[in-house]
Amino acid sequence: MNKKVDILRTRPSWITVDPEAIQENARIIMQYTGAKRLIAVVKANAYGFGAVATVKALYEIGVRDFAVATVAEAAIIRQEVTFDDFQILLLGVQDVSFVDIMVAYHLSPAVGDLSWLQQAVQLIPDGKVLEVQLAIDTGMGRMGAHSQSQVKEMYEFIQSSDKLKLVGVFTHFATADDNNQNYYDHQVENFYEWVHGANIPDKYWHLANSGSALWHKKEINIHMIRVGSVLYGFNPGAPERDMPIKLKSVLSLRSRIGFVHELQVGESVSYGATYTAQKPQWVATLPIGYADGYLRRMTGMRVLVAGHVEHVIGRVTMDQIVISLDKKYPVNTEVTLIGQDGDEEITIEEFAEYAKTIPHEISTTFSSRLPRIYN
Ligand SMILES: *Cc1c(COP(=O)(O)O)cnc(C)c1O
Repeated sequence: MNKKVDILRTRPSWITVDPEAIQENARIIMQYTGAKRLIAVVKANAYGFGAVATVKALYEIGVRDFAVATVAEAAIIRQEVTFDDFQILLLGVQDVSFVDIMVAYHLSPAVGDLSWLQQAVQLIPDGKVLEVQLAIDTGMGRMGAHSQSQVKEMYEFIQSSDKLKLVGVFTHFATADDNNQNYYDHQVENFYEWVHGANIPDKYWHLANSGSALWHKKEINIHMIRVGSVLYGFNPGAPERDMPIKLKSVLSLRSRIGFVHELQVGESVSYGATYTAQKPQWVATLPIGYADGYLRRMTGMRVLVAGHVEHVIGRVTMDQIVISLDKKYPVNTEVTLIGQDGDEEITIEEFAEYAKTIPHEISTTFSSRLPRIYN
């Protein structure tokens, strides 16, 4: 704890994460969909929001299912969270040679082909059971059983082995958060045809990522949802789709003025001297740059100082940016890069749109040089 405070003192650029807002978003999406069970996707360090803190916050409100992409991400959670009566699903492709670790850490890999299962049963220690999730590729094109016969064959193999236990059957949608309804429908059709054809009971199914939970809850079985984005309070369809519900914002990104000076007419700022003062002008330097995930393309972006809007001027450098000011401000004045300040707010969606990308890419790109403060 003290360690964290010390880091913040030397590093006046930081991310604040509100675990109660994550809890609240979980409640909001459960209520909106009517889902009974939530698999919280906490891959990539919970989209940059902090996996261990997110797991703890959601465990507190009864969530017992989590999902990550890699064995290493899961191992960190198992090592740092003291309670262990919860499931961790591995969403990505895993090399079969690590089944011993998956068994030891009680992880449930997503499995997409029969040969993986056949090799796994040879490697699972005697007397141990590997819990698996059957991945069905209905159109995402990344991994999974890709026909009714493959689904059936894998399901039967799992049922017949006393070293394997089925704990889930799922698919992932490619167009849940954009407007390609035909492609979505096609995936839904494949899923139902294949699982019905293989006689897989619906208690295993989990279909809904955030986009499906928000915009397709009537079209699919919504008993169990598997969501990331909505927990972290952002719109996964930004900027194309509007949200049907209001979520709590979870994250803010702030920094403090490190240096203030007045540019004279004709004086420039940063690499390339791309910004030149047309009149005398106060500017401030902040200790944050593209190495923190404040992307190089953010020149011109809005920032908030004392409740009003200023802008990033000149090029973003690795460790520092320069912003415009309306007057001289003291060193250490707080500046909001994402979040609320007075009546003004910069959302992560606005930030992402300015960067010509999606909020997921922004939050996962914030580097470890930015301390995460949880309150
Ligand atoms: C990342 C991921 C999710 C979560 O997606 P969101 O759109 O953030 O809810 C769900 N399922 C799979 C397979 C994923 O890879």
